[in-house]
Amino acid sequence: MYTQFIQELTNLIGKNNVLIDIAEQKKYVSDWFGRANGKALAVARPANPEEIASIVKLSEKYHVSIVPQGGNTGLVGGGLPDDSGHELVLSLERINKIRSLDALGKTISVDAGVILENLHKYAQEHGLEFPLTMGSQGSATIGGLLSTNAGGTAVLRYGNARDLCLGLEVITAEGEIWNGLRTLRKDNTGYDLRDLFIGAEGTLGIITGAVLKLVPLPKARLSALLSLNSPSLAIQLLEYVQTKANSQLTAFELISDTCLNLVDQYFPQFAYPFSTKVPYCVLIEISDNESEEHAYELLNAMLEEAFEMNLITDAIIPQSLAQSKRFWEIREHIPLSQVEDGKNIKHDISLPISKIPNFIEEAKKIILKQLPNARIIDFGHLGDGNLHYNVAAPKGENVDAFMKNKVVVNELIHDLVDQMGGSISAEHGIGANKAHELVKYKTPTELNLMKKIKAGLDPHGIFNPKKVLL
Ligand SMILES: Cc1cc2nc3c(=O)[nH]c(=O)nc-3n(C[C@H](O)[C@H](O)[C@H](O)COP(=O)(O)OP(=O)(O)OC[C@H]3O[C@@H](n4cnc5c(N)ncnc54)[C@H](O)[C@@H]3O)c2cc1C
Repeated sequence: MYTQFIQELTNLIGKNNVLIDIAEQKKYVSDWFGRANGKALAVARPANPEEIASIVKLSEKYHVSIVPQGGNTGLVGGGLPDDSGHELVLSLERINKIRSLDALGKTISVDAGVILENLHKYAQEHGLEFPLTMGSQGSATIGGLLSTNAGGTAVLRYGNARDLCLGLEVITAEGEIWNGLRTLRKDNTGYDLRDLFIGAEGTLGIITGAVLKLVPLPKARLSALLSLNSPSLAIQLLEYVQTKANSQLTAFELISDTCLNLVDQYFPQFAYPFSTKVPYCVLIEISDNESEEHAYELLNAMLEEAFEMNLITDAIIPQSLAQSKRFWEIREHIPLSQVEDGKNIKHDISLPISKIPNFIEEAKKIILKQLPNARIIDFGHLGDGNLHYNVAAPKGENVDAFMKNKVVVNELIHDLVDQMGGSISAEHGIGANKAHELVKYKTPTELNLMKKIKAGLDPHGIFNPKKVLL
């Protein structure tokens, strides 16, 4: 049966676009860390939505499941096949054109395989900006970003992927092309089909195109690194700068001392930025539509007052826009230095912002009681209430032995998050890795509604089985 399927698939999209060879499949079956490995029946690389529609019909005929894949930067195993060797990975990498840009309406229509960084460049050439930004933007695709409802560093100001999407084109389980590429900002005509596919992690359909919102490109973007003594002061600082800068505040990232040390250790070109060790620091970003001088004026005035209010202990104000960018490089090297440091137990959680200091304090107590000397590597998009709360083995301890604590640590952290009214996945999604936990933290009513949606849109369970819902 599989031989016949591969033959027909090859007839549809050509031999060069059906990867059977294990070596050729490697980058599509292992994750960004190079750790989670699945096995694929084949990797299909179609050239357009019509080819995807035909592949869906063929897969339906042969009961072959499809795992849609964009840039494969997802961190929860959602875009990887299982280890049966029976699933088809469907890569959108060849469907990667910018379709059109409407400068007046500030919208852009793109293929789902467009890489985020390429979209940024294109919009900038037109004096506009697509304001979703994150460390993986050199590989992550629009289809993947929408399917995970990705967040990133500017959610505070512009919202997440869902907030930036106006319309979608999707291949349904029947192999039909749904053209929902509307450019409307208002459209109350029944159920919002677009919103069903956003954040569905490829379990309801395959996104092939999208209409996205653009915003005017700011004249200047300035960042500063501010040290402070506690997360509680960081929350007070957030409230203060939000009042002062209002919509000009485009990012507010919390970074702990452990993160700065790790980056310094593995990437010495990004040395510890402060002259003395600090428990926490915040990376703030101001976007200004007038001028660089105007941005500096606002930043300086705010920081002066923040010092007077004893919110911050030190501030590194950039001497140039280039130095400003360098602060972001430090931030982006946190995940990279964690890769160098070895495996750790990761959590991508969100909480009501006011509860974050209390969470950080409680979580530390709980973890250190269970695992004295464990290293806590915490950082995140504080302005969105989103923390990346990672627990690593004590220095010198065997990492594989430490990772055996993963289930216990996940439960301790996620139970605490749940008690505080938070979420076990702020922006990375559920994928394969957290599907078993969803059952615990969603109510039966929520799970039932989700299962009904899945059964209605994908009755034969062809799209990304065992992801999100078990
Ligand atoms: C260094 C680094 C930094 C990161 N920072 C952030 C961050 O700040 N914020 C954040 O939210 N995420 C972040 N991520 C996670 C990741 O980049 C995002 O989840 C991104 O949205 C995934 O896009 P992708 O194209 O790589 O999707 P993939 O990894 O290929 O797929 C992700 C999911 O979407 C599905 N999918 C992909 N394309 C389609 C499609 N066209 N139609 C239907 N389903 C599809 C897949 O099946 C899978 O379930 C980071 C990752 C890394 C490695």
